[in-house]
Amino acid sequence: MSNPNQTAGMQFATKCPMCDFKYDKDDIKIMNNKEGMTTLYLGCKRCKSSVMMVVMTGAMGITSVSMISDVVEDDLKKMEGSCIEYDDVLEMHKFLKNK
Ligand SMILES: [Zn+2]
Repeated sequence: MSNPNQTAGMQFATKCPMCDFKYDKDDIKIMNNKEGMTTLYLGCKRCKSSVMMVVMTGAMGITSVSMISDVVEDDLKKMEGSCIEYDDVLEMHKFLKNK
């Protein structure tokens, strides 16, 4: 188990909590990116479960909260701003590291 307090390098869950399948970059989508708070959607190809992850940046550092979601990918396509490329996630990592 990883220590949730050690978020150095934004090492939030990149494996499916249900089946341990490692997420591909295509499986990670940014749903929302507000000041200090980013909502990610992680979809597992193997067991079809999906996880919502909220990453918060604040004075105490980076906190990530993940929860099993019942949102399916089709729903995401209807949502605005759901087509952000993985490069933007990398940009976000750089942004967070530089803070
Ligand atoms: Zn899975």
